[in-house]
Amino acid sequence: MSKTQLANLWDETGSESFSSDALHEHLDGDLVIIGGGYTGLSTALSAAERGASVVLLEAHEIGFGGSGRNVGLVNAGLWLPPEQIDTLLGSTIGQRLSSILGNAPELVFGWIEKYGIECAPVRNGTLHCAHSKSGFEEVKERFRQINAIGAPVRVIEADETAARTGAKGLHGALFDPRAGTIQPKDYARGLARAATECGAQIFEHSPALSVGWADGLWEVASPSGFVRAKSLLIATNAYPFKMSWVHPLKSVPVSYFQAATVPLPQDLRARIMSGGEGCWDTAKVMSSWRVDADGRLVIGGMGQLDHLASEMHHKWVRRKIGRLFPELKGIDLTHFWQGRIAMTKEKLPKIWRHGPNAYACFGYSGRGIAPGSAFGQRLAPCLLDGNEEVLPMVPVNANPTNATRLTGAIYEAGATLAHLVKDRF
Ligand SMILES: Cc1cc2nc3c(=O)[nH]c(=O)nc-3n(C[C@H](O)[C@H](O)[C@H](O)COP(=O)(O)OP(=O)(O)OC[C@H]3O[C@@H](n4cnc5c(N)ncnc54)[C@H](O)[C@@H]3O)c2cc1C
Repeated sequence: MSKTQLANLWDETGSESFSSDALHEHLDGDLVIIGGGYTGLSTALSAAERGASVVLLEAHEIGFGGSGRNVGLVNAGLWLPPEQIDTLLGSTIGQRLSSILGNAPELVFGWIEKYGIECAPVRNGTLHCAHSKSGFEEVKERFRQINAIGAPVRVIEADETAARTGAKGLHGALFDPRAGTIQPKDYARGLARAATECGAQIFEHSPALSVGWADGLWEVASPSGFVRAKSLLIATNAYPFKMSWVHPLKSVPVSYFQAATVPLPQDLRARIMSGGEGCWDTAKVMSSWRVDADGRLVIGGMGQLDHLASEMHHKWVRRKIGRLFPELKGIDLTHFWQGRIAMTKEKLPKIWRHGPNAYACFGYSGRGIAPGSAFGQRLAPCLLDGNEEVLPMVPVNANPTNATRLTGAIYEAGATLAHLVKDRF
């Protein structure tokens, strides 16, 4: 077995390139955005499409956060099923949110086509796979709720799940044809390219250090420049670079790691994940898997690779591959990488009001590709015109945080314990 590299596959397999200078001047604009992930970039693109002058500051490089590290599942809807969303938000807002997010993959694949974003889009749907009998009951209940809002989902039995995935031991799955997969970092870079083509100014390596409000304008200072604008979006999600004045966003950082195999040989590709769907399972400590454009199996689970017990996660991922796909037992793993998911208490995203024409948007709780794009598309008109009714959710006033790191550590301890004991046979 070859030595594994701790490296992000998406950094090494990109087709889109994007780079920009740091900010070295004073700029005035309609909108200043902090954070170059899907939320910030989709807002920048949508605002620039409307002719607004937009400046986006990214502390590192485009896609440095979750947007450059994720699985690449372009899901329809949130992790929570629709009835739970309605219970938490009330049925009017809940149904509106579910409808907007149900159509969000259409927005993502539409932008990919419109702007020629080279991110290996595959729209073969997703499979939410039942890892147990009770998991299959959960799948059927999700089907009932998602089907009731008019979505074209379908329950497939164990035989069909096995035929489409080549995986062993699954009890069935929920197939969602609205969804698909992408190379996630390429999608982020492509959005940045599209936004600049529409006139937005993007500055990488330009952390926002402070945010202020003076003479009716927002002032965002970076180490060697600053931006003044009528409106402000904070889109830093689980990767905040500390800024003075801004309330820390209230979410729990949950670690999720992934590993990629060498490209599968052609004969195995005909049997393993031949349907091209993106998959995740119903286990409480969830796993995900898909193949990329080069035929690598990309598999992941909750956990952090840079702490003392991370060997548990390394061992678990090898056991998991062997259990799902016995033909791949012992296959070389060439890449391991990890990211932080911004999980909120209710597993619902948040839009926080930070002052006049200023919002923070975060907390997609593991579902940010399509939701981040759809939220950004709607944040732009709200920020520019001051009309909150276009937003997918009702914003609330910013609310300082507490004790989220402790909750993150509890998630990590649970994942490590689960990976210590699970998938042994
Ligand atoms: C491992 C993993 C797997 C996931 N899998 C999926 C999936 O399959 N499907 C899915 O839909 N979602 C998935 N998600 C969730 C999804 O990736 C995120 O919800 C989404 O990327 C969030 O986008 P964002 O723009 O809000 O934040 P981010 O992409 O995290 O971007 C925030 C950016 O803000 C920048 N920043 C922070 N502070 C400052 C500052 N002061 N100044 C300037 N810039 C700053 C950061 O550097 C960062 O680039 C996954 C997440 C992870 C971590």
